[in-house]
Amino acid sequence: MWRMFHSLCCRCHSQKRRRRCINKADATVYMNFMKSHRCYDAIPTSCKLVIFDTTLQVKKAFFALVANGLRAAPLWDSKLQRFVGMLTITDFINILHRYYRSPMVQMYELESHKIETWRDVYLEYSNRVLISISPEASLFDAIYSLLRYKIHRLPVIDPESGNVLHILTHKRIFKFLHIFGKKVPKPAFIQRQIQELGIGTFRNIATVQQTASLYDALSIFVERRVSALPVVDERGKVVALYSRFDVINVAAQKTYNNLDMTMQEAVRRRTCYVEGVMKCYPDETLETILDRIVEAEVHRLVLVDRANVVKGIVSLSDLLQAMVLTPAGIDTLLS
Ligand code: ADP
Ligand code: ADP
Ligand code: AMP
Repeated sequence: MWRMFHSLCCRCHSQKRRRRCINKADATVYMNFMKSHRCYDAIPTSCKLVIFDTTLQVKKAFFALVANGLRAAPLWDSKLQRFVGMLTITDFINILHRYYRSPMVQMYELESHKIETWRDVYLEYSNRVLISISPEASLFDAIYSLLRYKIHRLPVIDPESGNVLHILTHKRIFKFLHIFGKKVPKPAFIQRQIQELGIGTFRNIATVQQTASLYDALSIFVERRVSALPVVDERGKVVALYSRFDVINVAAQKTYNNLDMTMQEAVRRRTCYVEGVMKCYPDETLETILDRIVEAEVHRLVLVDRANVVKGIVSLSDLLQAMVLTPAGIDTLLS
């Protein structure tokens, strides 16, 4: 969208001036919406929140996430008396990837490590601190943090009490926009095609063959740091979508000792509430794509050609970057 906005700005013919202004106003609609609402506004009236003490065993923590139908939890260090980080499914993937050997060898570390032990190992070479936000901060700031730090969970912490009020996600922010952004005048550019706007990733897409093992998929998650993998057949046609979230099924079904199973098997075994693959086509409009991704409550659509061959990914991160941060002159997806 920046390219589109920029190219229109560069045409300085007087006749185009009015159009240029309209487009400038259009381009900042979502940025202004996010700047004028607080994180507090996007917090649901009731929701479940689980907090883990860092002395809890990692295995128990992931079972607790499954039992509560949650994707992540803030970590409390009782010695330091403060929140020190988050435990997410990505951490579960990192543990499995690091310690899995074969179906014959039990993962001692998964059985015995405490969260604090795992963090000592995992954070040895990084000094990652908890990234959080105040309820009074704007949704624009929340989006900036989510995209800048490439995280998917942003705890909203009350600065007075120190309590976690909610965990903000890209999905929640889009839901808020969908419900409360109805009064925002629809900018003209949402009628344009996604390929023309260039929103998404179109090169070097990380995919996994359906005949590959689940461990192979975990390796791709770890190496490429992507949030989901289109599962493809030998012709590159998408047959399923396997997201980091789906790996929690391995904990739910206690199958973490068999990561040699094929992706076909992993997809068949998982509990998934989304039917089929949520896709989009290059010639579809941004408006169509926004409606589809919000309604399906998924984090991304797989961009395919008419033969179902994977051509790209349009993720909520790409949409927030283009609709909210690019108009502010901020590019987080490049770094
Ligand atoms: P997922 O997509 O699995 O929910 P994330 O992308 O949010 O996971 O997390 C990636 C890594 O960053 C994980 O190791 C997680 O513990 C860490 N992390 C996630 N959110 C935060 C945060 N708000 N502050 C610090 N670290 C975080
Ligand atoms: P999160 O809420 O953690 O961001 P995701 O949206 O990645 O989770 O995944 C939630 C569920 O939706 C998973 O079972 C995943 O396989 C499914 N899902 C996500 N994106 C798609 C898609 N484009 N097509 C089909 N299923 C999807
Ligand atoms: P996400 O982690 O889904 O919020 O997306 C962060 C960035 O990674 C976005 O620019 C996505 O388009 C991109 N992305 C997500 N999944 C993939 C994938 N499988 N291959 C390549 N890029 C991806």
